[in-house]
Amino acid sequence: MSIYDTAYLKGLAERFGFTFEKSFGQNFLTDTAAVERIVEASGALGADVFEIGPGAGALTLGLSRVARSVRVLELDRRLEPVLKETLPPSVELTWGDILTFPLDSLPKSDRRVAVSNLPYNVTTKALTRLFESGMFSRITVTVQKEYARKLVQKENRSLIALLAEHYAEPKYLFTIPAGSFYPRPGVDSAVVTMALKPLDPDKESEAMFIRTAHALYASRRKTVRNTLSAEFGASAADAALKSAEVDPAARGEDLSAREVERISSALMLK
Ligand code: SAM
Repeated sequence: MSIYDTAYLKGLAERFGFTFEKSFGQNFLTDTAAVERIVEASGALGADVFEIGPGAGALTLGLSRVARSVRVLELDRRLEPVLKETLPPSVELTWGDILTFPLDSLPKSDRRVAVSNLPYNVTTKALTRLFESGMFSRITVTVQKEYARKLVQKENRSLIALLAEHYAEPKYLFTIPAGSFYPRPGVDSAVVTMALKPLDPDKESEAMFIRTAHALYASRRKTVRNTLSAEFGASAADAALKSAEVDPAARGEDLSAREVERISSALMLK
């Protein structure tokens, strides 16, 4: 029996007295075909892989077959005996929280990719940290299907979609039905892969982009002129919008990452 059999997973949980914790998003993948597709899309072949939340190791096993190295970060220490049984010793286990783990402590690598089947409640914060770290050339995540759609959306954007477009090229790959997980979650999931662009080496201009993006999304119903004036003052806002050729009456959620980048560059010059 393999790790992709629900019966094996149930047996494993029973043997180790492991109970699935909903608040940690513990729905484990039991679909070999989905694992293979994620492994392929993730760019793990010959790369240094950082996986967040290995669970019982379903995805990790697939990754470890093709990667140069695999390091996993798991919050739930109760999974230690399970992972020691399911994973090869070459996989490095790290215990911690993706919301606080120092990503810059990962060893230097010319090809590091991040892979995760992220728990819903930490998705946005975890993704933002992964983007801002500048440590990864590709990030591939399995998230709730609605969230995946939101991440790649090009109109009525959310702040995370704007950030994804700024840092990467997000692509919606495929849907994974709820029945491919154990225990079965309430909704379907989907896989999104993001090839990262190199980070702007100028930390100040990167910080200005973040500040501008947050200002634009602080009040979604207001015009960009109003949200930017509240943060930077009316004359700086007007000058930046003019130089960036952005309509002052637009809403923040209508602006592309390129437009926000132009506004923040203009604000830098003030
Ligand atoms: N990758 C496995 C799979 O696909 O079968 C498990 C995915 S499960 C949806 C999410 C995993 O993330 C669980 O193992 C959970 O304990 C872990 N996790 C939850 N919150 C976390 C956090 N803040 N930091 C690191 N891991 C976390």
